[in-house]
Amino acid sequence: MAAGLRLLAGALQRAAPRLSGRAAGPLAVRFKSDGGVPTDEEQATGLERKILEADRRGEDPYSCYAPKKYAGTKEDPHLVPSTEDMRFVGCVCDEDTTYINWFWVIKGKVHRCWECGAHYKLVPQKIPH
Ligand SMILES: [Zn+2]
Repeated sequence: MAAGLRLLAGALQRAAPRLSGRAAGPLAVRFKSDGGVPTDEEQATGLERKILEADRRGEDPYSCYAPKKYAGTKEDPHLVPSTEDMRFVGCVCDEDTTYINWFWVIKGKVHRCWECGAHYKLVPQKIPH
């Protein structure tokens, strides 16, 4: 698509003096590429752009990356991001466990997995608009 825009910009630059009878105006300048391949941030739009901007700020509002490791103790619980006041969480207590312990983690409380004893705490998170 960038190549198509460059072709369009080149055609507008060539046609602008003929159409207006003067040198290339702002329209041709607006579509003018300064060369090279546009970066991801230059061509990203919508949700992709919001994710890139959040990443630049060091945030991960859409959980794109693997969660950080926590000890899971009462002092250093697993942090569970949520846009709501509660979230349904599954704990895989051991690596070779064949089932998941599911429970609700509620805002303002630290929940303890009844089987392995890991602690979970809900952290409010806002989704960028
Ligand atoms: Zn567990």
